[in-house]
Amino acid sequence: MSNEEVYDLVIVGGGPAGFTAGLYAARSRLKTLLVERLGFGGQLLTYEKVDNYPGFPEGVSASALIELFSAQAFRFGLESRNAEITGLDLTDRVKTIHLADGRLQARTVIIATGCAPNKLGVTGETKFTGRGVSYCAVCDAPFFRDQEVAVIGGGDTAIEEAIYLTKFARKVRVIHRRDSLRAVRIVQEQAFHNEKIQFVWNTVVSEIRGDQQGVDGLMLRNIQNQQTEHLPVSGVFVFVGMQPNTGFLPPEFERDAAGFIITDPNMACSVPGFFAAGDVRSKSLRQIATAVGDGATAAYNAERYLEAHE
Ligand code: NAP
Repeated sequence: MSNEEVYDLVIVGGGPAGFTAGLYAARSRLKTLLVERLGFGGQLLTYEKVDNYPGFPEGVSASALIELFSAQAFRFGLESRNAEITGLDLTDRVKTIHLADGRLQARTVIIATGCAPNKLGVTGETKFTGRGVSYCAVCDAPFFRDQEVAVIGGGDTAIEEAIYLTKFARKVRVIHRRDSLRAVRIVQEQAFHNEKIQFVWNTVVSEIRGDQQGVDGLMLRNIQNQQTEHLPVSGVFVFVGMQPNTGFLPPEFERDAAGFIITDPNMACSVPGFFAAGDVRSKSLRQIATAVGDGATAAYNAERYLEAHE
């Protein structure tokens, strides 16, 4: 154990929050490792274009943006490793981070693992995932060229993705359980003016149906009059909110009712030496702009923590 390299900081998660924390920490000369289980970018990879990150008046491609984030952090000496975290030891001052294929040691840890899409939980959803049921329009929209698809949800993700889908699909039906959208007004207006988008209000999906080829329709239920109808579609895109990626976290970490990590204003978790940043944190606004702020604040306060404890 004593011969193992001890990092000043290990950052878990390679999205905008993780890379910003990595940039600030590496630039402060902390020995910093970023661990990511998949590709860099986090949820950003599920978007095509980002229109609301400052500094890009014409918008910026999501993949280009994460490339810029990572290149800037690596320039200052951030190290990275592709691995999945399976658990954490909290007892010692130096924390042990268990990986699927080994372990790491760190004096401080920033959790920036983001969140993942919720499932609808209806019959047929699991069976047809990847065969007509999707949680990522950028990934799967081209499969539905000139076809009719449904989008479930009324938040920013659902409406932005519905607009994106109109580039490919013939018709996009947005199925929402209420009669008004949660998405921001400007996105709502774009959707209302898009001829390919039709809204189905006060309605939930009760079943996703299909055959060997994949999805061929949805059973819908109007929650005001309880009437049911069959809607023929070949694709269904589910965007009904997010849940935090915290499966590896021990119960000692304080969380909100939905499971997001509670931090103080310095991004410190309830367990000393641990910080959280970005979408995994309990907060009011989940944006790239707020994730980078969290990442910078977390790295700054991890450094203060190291100074106070070493
Ligand atoms: P969200 O804001 O939580 O919206 C989830 C939507 O799904 C809501 O309309 C909700 O209906 C609906 N819903 C939830 N559970 C459902 C169920 N079981 N059946 C049917 N419908 C259900 O989630 P999100 O759109 O993924 O956004 C997550 C966060 O990321 C938000 O803070 C959002 O602002 C942010 N975001 C921002 C951008 C951007 O700024 N460009 C883009 C994407 C996401 P109700 O409205 O009735 O609750």
